Amino acid sequence: TIAKGKLHAVLLSSPGMGHIFPVIELGKRLTAHHGFHVTVVVAGASSDPTDPESKTIEAAASLGLFDIMRLPSVDITGLVDPNATFITRLCVIMREAKPAFKAALSAMEVQPDLLILDLFSTEHLILGEELRIPTYTYVATNAWFLALFLYTPTLDKTVAGEYVDQPEPFDIPGCRPVLPYDVIDPMLDRNDQQYVELLRMAREITMGNGILLNTWEELQSGTLAALRDAGLLGRIARQPMYTIGPLIRPNELVGSDTENALFGWLDRQPAESVIYVSFGSGGTLSADQLTELAAGLELSGQRFIWVLRPPTAKSGCGWFFGSKSGSADMWSFLPDGFLERTQGTGLVVRQWAPQVNVLAHAAVGAFMSHCGWNSILESIVNGVPMIAWPLYAEQRMNAVLLEEDFGVAFRPKVRPSEKTVERQEIAGLVSKILVSDGSSQAMRKKVKELKESAKVALRQGGSSYEWLCKLEDDCRTMGIGSRKAWWN
Ligand code: UDP
Repeated sequence: TIAKGKLHAVLLSSPGMGHIFPVIELGKRLTAHHGFHVTVVVAGASSDPTDPESKTIEAAASLGLFDIMRLPSVDITGLVDPNATFITRLCVIMREAKPAFKAALSAMEVQPDLLILDLFSTEHLILGEELRIPTYTYVATNAWFLALFLYTPTLDKTVAGEYVDQPEPFDIPGCRPVLPYDVIDPMLDRNDQQYVELLRMAREITMGNGILLNTWEELQSGTLAALRDAGLLGRIARQPMYTIGPLIRPNELVGSDTENALFGWLDRQPAESVIYVSFGSGGTLSADQLTELAAGLELSGQRFIWVLRPPTAKSGCGWFFGSKSGSADMWSFLPDGFLERTQGTGLVVRQWAPQVNVLAHAAVGAFMSHCGWNSILESIVNGVPMIAWPLYAEQRMNAVLLEEDFGVAFRPKVRPSEKTVERQEIAGLVSKILVSDGSSQAMRKKVKELKESAKVALRQGGSSYEWLCKLEDDCRTMGIGSRKAWWN
């Protein structure tokens, strides 16, 4: 039962660590700071209890802050092409989850007052009309991504041929233009199903009552102004933007032998002397790139922690599909003698590391990252500058933001998802970021300023805190059907 007067928010997450984490963190925030009653529903998550997804869901459930339920898994084998992309698969999983989500909603003891759906769940927005409750989309990434996302149906009408082949950047009203090479993955091939899904989601999102973004006002004020301006992107979005971030998960409980060895080693290293190298929950490198990275780290002579995964044919998001078990001969992917030669200066971790704890450690002074938005926020919140190594999704845009807007990352000269970045380049960047010179000092100062600004945004009276208060007020005052009146 729910205390009288509390709003019951049902949050729906698509599978994938990068999606589940921010939804759980939003759930925590709504219950702990804003007095909501929350139910988190996760669709399509791994049923393997040893998978990080299952562990995360279990850990969230054990907090007792909110109810968390998994929808029964659906077999999509016959529904997607065997070569379908990760995004297409996600969209199909969320589509197939519709009956189960509806059933779960109607079985709830207390009916929801509002639904908060993640970006891949826009097909469920229509439920708001059926249930006559407000529905929101939670875009767990940044405002510049959302700007391009909302603008794709317009670009679809005006641009002929492939986006990547265009000679000029794309002008997004009121925003930094997007270079053709930097477009989000589903725009890379207009004949692929993921492009069709993208256009559908971009149209559907406009049906919602508001969009929640995992960013904060002070970080992206210009882009947010464009998203709210009815003469610019507000004309397309037609709903309020609630910036509520940065929501990142807290440190995990660690204690396995490997974790103890890792943190024991870190404890013995000088402050800000180690680079943490990791490519998110899906990132993998080609065999050539993996060899160059190993050689680059070794050549730099700097301290490192590297989360190693088996290589894939192309650098990208191979870990989302790959077999995550086995790989007993993991070390065989490294150059001969690498582990012996780097013993003492570096640590290689198999497949997965407790990233937030690592980034929070005083010895960590830089992060070589695939630029997933959660990783970026985790780095900023810990005041750690980055080497931007984008691989998939919206990460090329994120890398641009990091370097050019926020001034908290270096980028390799060649583009990691196109060409192999060579050892000299890698060694040069790693040394530059860890060994203080003018540019790395300025960057370290900048990222610490952003860390402070994030803290202020989240505390009571700060912008992100106030936006969640406003969400509650808006839900209470806005009956369904009044959205258009509110906006016009
Ligand atoms: N992560 C982790 N250990 C790893 C790799 C990833 O804890 O070895 C976590 C990371 O802290 C982040 C999430 O997985 O919270 C990845 O989300 P992100 O948005 O950075 O990238 P995605 O995996 O969605 O591409």
